[in-house]
Amino acid sequence: MTNVAAQHDHTIVNVVERNMCVGCGACGVATDGRIPVTIRPRGYYEADLTGASEADLAIGSRVCPFANESPNENEVADPIFGDLPHDDRIGHYRSLFAGRITDDAEIPRSSSGGLTNWTLSQLLERGLVDGVIHVGDLDQPMFGYVVSTNPQDLRNGRKSKYHPASFDEVLRSIRGNSKRYAFVGIPCAIKAARHVASEDSVLGEQIAYFVGIVCGHLKTTAYPESFAWQLGIEPSDLDTVDFRIKDPELTSRQYKFGARAKSTGEWKEAQTLSLVGGSWGHAVFQLNACNYCDDVFAEAADVVFGDAWLSKYEIDWRGTNVVVTRNEVIDDILREGARAGAISRDDLDPDSVARTQAGNYRHRRDGLAVRLADDEAAGEWTPSKRVHPGYDHVTPDRVDLIRKRRQISEVSQIAFEQAKESNDLQVYMNAIKPLIGAYQNETKMSFPIRVRNKLQRESWKLLRRFTRN
Ligand SMILES: Cc1cc2nc3c(=O)[nH]c(=O)nc-3n(C[C@H](O)[C@H](O)[C@H](O)COP(=O)(O)OP(=O)(O)OC[C@H]3O[C@@H](n4cnc5c(N)ncnc54)[C@H](O)[C@@H]3O)c2cc1C
Ligand code: SF4
Ligand code: SF4
Repeated sequence: MTNVAAQHDHTIVNVVERNMCVGCGACGVATDGRIPVTIRPRGYYEADLTGASEADLAIGSRVCPFANESPNENEVADPIFGDLPHDDRIGHYRSLFAGRITDDAEIPRSSSGGLTNWTLSQLLERGLVDGVIHVGDLDQPMFGYVVSTNPQDLRNGRKSKYHPASFDEVLRSIRGNSKRYAFVGIPCAIKAARHVASEDSVLGEQIAYFVGIVCGHLKTTAYPESFAWQLGIEPSDLDTVDFRIKDPELTSRQYKFGARAKSTGEWKEAQTLSLVGGSWGHAVFQLNACNYCDDVFAEAADVVFGDAWLSKYEIDWRGTNVVVTRNEVIDDILREGARAGAISRDDLDPDSVARTQAGNYRHRRDGLAVRLADDEAAGEWTPSKRVHPGYDHVTPDRVDLIRKRRQISEVSQIAFEQAKESNDLQVYMNAIKPLIGAYQNETKMSFPIRVRNKLQRESWKLLRRFTRN
């Protein structure tokens, strides 16, 4: 550890030195741009602390989601939602349910059940906010934070952007304009934006609602580039992508990835799971920050939307959201929507909600404990987490898998950079395929479990067909 880091134990200096910056932009907003947050050659945002004063480092550390100086998820959420029931996996909750919009003509344009866009549109149309701060299309990079002030612009920004984004510029651009906003973000962005709002009373007044999105991990810009390249579109020729194309002939999990070439305008598609790195479990291009995150259901958000990954819902190509509400106004809006028939709603219990993200908990809770223990054993600084370092909760095979996954994330970033430099996709493929192969061998489900899952899916399909006719 350098002298600078020793003086700043637990601060954003440690966070950036250990490559744990998620590029959220909170330190940039809180210091009015004196800490720039810029995109790096490997395709992720990172704070640039060169030239930051002691005072700016202190402010940045109070808002950074990974610095120990900032409050953790419980410390943010308890004062706001403390009256509501609490589950360690989910955070506080008012309602728990699975659902989707009932307009089947619109559902293909959303990633999952479309309830994120539907709820944001309601906030806008009811005049509860003047605008929505969310991740939409840009020219360069492809996606980033934008402000939508009308439902059409908001609709144009639907679907998940598995792409880094920094809210620094957007929050500074709206600061002090006397308008109210809903802020949309993955859990670390929500926590960071809450920190900014409590540090800065002007933005604190302006951000009226925090709308969370469940998150497994975040990818660098190499993720869409690597897929497009596999489809024959080189990174320099990549115009835009769609991460979640639905197919009525398949299940909601079997979504496709699509990409358009700048030079020809040609659109190409493939099932995401058929592409190298297409399984989320392999964690290609995962940011290092995500190795240190334990918040799955955006515990500081007023409401959070994810995919209801339960076989009952998974078999439906339209996609189904899992929803956790915490804010009363948003809860009422969703209840009214269900009564009016605009959305469907199946109430769930906490265990079912947690089961929708089973893999996520294995990575973010069990895996985090192992990674923290590994780092401590190596004498590395780690942020304080709500998960304690240790190995006892998992088998030695699982420890090995957790380490293999971490290696895939690291190697994928380095190998793809080399592939781009040598203009040869094979450089990446040759490095990553053996690692994914070894990981895949260890995670192969046993025959009885594969049969059980298949039977479960087939029986839900039959039931669905029967109840539709
Ligand atoms: C990086 C990432 C990882 C995810 N991991 C998981 C997971 O492990 N498990 C799971 O169940 N769900 C995960 N999701 C959420 C899931 O992909 C859907 O986004 C979610 O279910 C909402 O679907 P919807 O149909 O309601 O959204 P839509 O109606 O399509 O609306 C999506 C809204 O979210 C905004 N948005 C999209 N991407 C971002 C972003 N990166 N930051 C801020 N706003 C954004 C859009 O602008 C739009 O307003 C992840 C999402 C992201 C971005
Ligand atoms: S506040 Fe966000 S951008 Fe700044 S150092 Fe922390 S994670 Fe990085
Ligand atoms: S896993 Fe955590 S740190 Fe990583 S992007 Fe998702 S919410 Fe942020």
